[in-house]
Amino acid sequence: MKKKNIESIVRANIAALSPYSTARDEYQGELGVFLDANESPYENGYNRYPDPHQKRLKAILSEKKGVNAENIFLGNGSDEAIDLMFRLFCEPAEDNAVAIAPSYGMYKVAAAINNVQMREIQLGEEFSLPVEELLSACDEHTKLMFICSPNNPTGNLFPRESILHLAEEFEGMLVVDEAYIDFAGAESLVGAIATHPNIVVLQTLSKAWAMAGLRLGLALADKRVVEIMSQVKYPYNINQAALQIVEKLLSEPIDDKVAEIVTERSEVAEKLCNMSFVDKVYPSDANFLLVRVDDADAVYNHLIADGIIVRNRTRVQGCEGCLRITIGTPEENLKMLKSLEAYEEKSAVC
Ligand SMILES: *Cc1c(COP(=O)(O)O)cnc(C)c1O
Repeated sequence: MKKKNIESIVRANIAALSPYSTARDEYQGELGVFLDANESPYENGYNRYPDPHQKRLKAILSEKKGVNAENIFLGNGSDEAIDLMFRLFCEPAEDNAVAIAPSYGMYKVAAAINNVQMREIQLGEEFSLPVEELLSACDEHTKLMFICSPNNPTGNLFPRESILHLAEEFEGMLVVDEAYIDFAGAESLVGAIATHPNIVVLQTLSKAWAMAGLRLGLALADKRVVEIMSQVKYPYNINQAALQIVEKLLSEPIDDKVAEIVTERSEVAEKLCNMSFVDKVYPSDANFLLVRVDDADAVYNHLIADGIIVRNRTRVQGCEGCLRITIGTPEENLKMLKSLEAYEEKSAVC
């Protein structure tokens, strides 16, 4: 099958860009008297600009993920990588993107900001991946396709073969958002980048790695894609404080915490299933449960009154009647379940 190469998908102005060259690009030695970047000479730990290429952090992540450093882009959260996808590949007011729905809200917002039409394709039965509908929604101006797997807010992982099939048939860039992959007990698609250079895998330190406050997202992609993303990003997009703290926190293992969340997920799901006002608990490969109840607004407000905040998704097409409940600590989950038991008793009386 004929396949477009990256150069023919990227916008012409971006391919031709001569990127900003930082002081740190022009002199790379580590020792010396640095009078080249108009920094303050008074050391306080943060007076110097950070490494614009994040070499040390990429080396650590390269080892952890089994991916070459040249295939890693680091962004100020995955949201930066999502925005960059539009800026790299979509001509405003001309190109379009395709995404599944319901899914992560940022794809549509980033498309709108970049003046790119977003074509949303509703998931099928039981939130299955509508492979043929996604492909038929594409035309010669479709440059991006977004698949979130495990998907937010539905929680399910899509079959690897179906995603690879999409990558093979689609002529633009396929963005696979794996924000929740650590909870899925499934293999990431990063291994497929070598054979499918139009796949961009997004991962994040915001969920399983417990660093949402530090804002660190990864795009794992073909070397040329990473190179272009790096030319378009703000030169110092990851700040020195984040670099230092992330490097330190990455040395603390997360396996036990991920395992606890996965165990809690099935226990909470089972308890919710047995409640009379719960219609359905959708299977989850993520750190949250999508739960369909008889009256989503009433349950949501009941939980709020008890100081428990969940995400009300009832006004999202395809999620009518649904709440998205993040799995917390065992104590937090118990509080949430207790509150729902009280709701059950209350609603049984009237
Ligand atoms: C939470 C989440 C992210 C993470 O975004 P960051 O900007 O890295 O915090 C990405 N994608 C999806 C689908 C998410 O739910």
